[in-house]
Amino acid sequence: MFDLQGKVAIVTGGNGGIGLGMARGLADAGARVVVAARNEEKSKAAVSDLQARGSDSFAIAVDVTNEQAVEALMTETVERCGRLDILVNNAGTNIRKLPQELNLDEWQHVMDTNLTSAFLCSRSAYPHLKHAGRGKIINIGSMLSIFGASFAAAYGASKGGIVQLTKSLATAWAVDNIQVNGVLPGWIDTDLTLQARQQIPGLHDRVLSRTPAARWGVIDDFAGVAVFLASSASDFITGAAIPVDGGYSVLI
Ligand code: NDP
Repeated sequence: MFDLQGKVAIVTGGNGGIGLGMARGLADAGARVVVAARNEEKSKAAVSDLQARGSDSFAIAVDVTNEQAVEALMTETVERCGRLDILVNNAGTNIRKLPQELNLDEWQHVMDTNLTSAFLCSRSAYPHLKHAGRGKIINIGSMLSIFGASFAAAYGASKGGIVQLTKSLATAWAVDNIQVNGVLPGWIDTDLTLQARQQIPGLHDRVLSRTPAARWGVIDDFAGVAVFLASSASDFITGAAIPVDGGYSVLI
């Protein structure tokens, strides 16, 4: 049920953090993983990590905000692997500022990286998934898909949008046997939150006391949910947004 042998998965931002955690899960389940990100050194290291797990993984350098580059990512993947089965829209960024301090370029950068990219990649993956007769798309949201924060106007808008995009894609493509689901991470120890911990005093301890599991998440916490949502185990689940947060979203 959880076997991904013979499947091909693209993970955007798969060269580190949560994307790498998910890529490792997919690789361990047998998938061939394409690491799609900008930093070629980081991607090279991630590919070695995935190859050591037995995946015939490779990297394609791509800026997911660029429509032509996204098209080229899908084309090259299918040319090299013969198929595409799984897309993880994980690439993301944040600019932490109060709304009145956020300029339009900053707003646009966050929206393009976190939300428009998921639309572009999904639209471009669709014909290949349809051709395969089944497909899985996993979109990465956030606790800011459901909560607000003073420093996260653009980020929160983009991550709220991810949940709604997920529902629209799920309803549009269910008939093609393509399931589209979201994952909402809690506070996870990655490069992204390393910056946050430097910028927001007391954040580290606040996360520990606010999270019922009383710990920060780690990237390997995302392997299981990735395999579940990428495999036939989740074939009748679509349009859902699953928190992976140690209970953060259910504590008042
Ligand atoms: P990281 O900073 O470790 O990873 C972000 C990834 O996105 C990198 O691999 C980066 O690769 C890639 N990326 C960024 N911009 C682009 C771009 N334009 N084109 C292609 N790739 C891009 O952060 P996380 O692992 O923490 O974040 C992963 C996802 O999880 C994001 O969507 C984030 O919003 C979300 N998330 C994280 C949480 C956390 O606590 N860490 C909580 C909730 C959500 P490169 O720079 O090489 O392009």
